[in-house]
Amino acid sequence: MATVSLSNREQSTPHITVIVPAYNEQQAIVATLTQIASQLQQLSPHWDIVVVDDGSRDETADRVRALGPEHRVTLVRFSRNFGKEYAISAGLQQARGQVTICMDADGQHSSSLVADMLEKWRGGYDMVYAVRQDRHVESRFKRWGSRLFYRAISMGGQIDIPRDAGDFRLMDRCVVKALLSLPERNRFMKGMYAWVGYRSIGIPYTPLPRSHGESTFSKLRLMQLAWTGITSFSVIPLRLASAVGGLLALLAFAYGIVVVVDKLFLNESVPGWPTVVASIMFFSGVQLLFIGILGEYLARVYDEVKGRPSYIVAEVFSHQEAQTALLT
Ligand code: UDP
Ligand code: MG
Repeated sequence: MATVSLSNREQSTPHITVIVPAYNEQQAIVATLTQIASQLQQLSPHWDIVVVDDGSRDETADRVRALGPEHRVTLVRFSRNFGKEYAISAGLQQARGQVTICMDADGQHSSSLVADMLEKWRGGYDMVYAVRQDRHVESRFKRWGSRLFYRAISMGGQIDIPRDAGDFRLMDRCVVKALLSLPERNRFMKGMYAWVGYRSIGIPYTPLPRSHGESTFSKLRLMQLAWTGITSFSVIPLRLASAVGGLLALLAFAYGIVVVVDKLFLNESVPGWPTVVASIMFFSGVQLLFIGILGEYLARVYDEVKGRPSYIVAEVFSHQEAQTALLT
């Protein structure tokens, strides 16, 4: 598809592709897609929706397949649950729009914001991300956790991830292409959006309440995601380990001198066991911790070296393709 130059954007009605990752969303998916479709219909004659069913165990895929052609849906079904990051990657692979927008299936991302995003794109921005405004209603764990996370990532100094911005965003074709060109298998989308760069801007939004059920991101899963983010986009844990290791070595050296001086000049009696035992425990603890951190990075390298695909697509379905298949 031809790219639209900046000066032509103002008048253009681009082809819009909306990507919707869905995992066990049978109760919400049809309503969400209907809403998105009616919103898109008002914005441009050219649009389509890509739903990535991330290995749902419920009827999500069946309900999407049962939708009529007016929803213009392409369904990409994974062979199992690979996670939202991979569902988005698969959606980007499938997207053919001049602009691509990523939205949740649970109805939390209000489709009325799409018009504002498109306005910003017309104004020359290649990436428009929605920034959550409601952080104060979240649990203390989430608020402090996210603060700690952004602090740790920014200490790495490689990228600047905008705070409280998630996957709800509009991307120009050039951004999508750039994201697809990143070969890594440990995909941490928040970091990758920031890493590719391009002219970006945030617009504020307040997420709507989830239309059913609960968030699939438990505390444990959030911590895992944060750790993937930190180890994929920063070497700060390694630097911290080196700094603490260096400091401890210096202290140990100084203490060694004290012991020698004691022995040679002051002829002090043999010090007690508790000091020895305590310091052995402490130093071996620190060593094990840092070996663990090294191991985490090694595990990332191992994952990449294996060269497995990031996800497996079991099926791609769309009315258009079904029709073409009938004709041939
Ligand atoms: N999701 C997914 N794969 C998963 C978990 C979630 O594709 O393994 C989708 C989910 O269906 C939803 C979006 O990612 O469309 C956000 O998930 P959720 O609402 O559970 O998280 P939160 O709103 O707390 O970010
Ligand atoms: Mg949600």
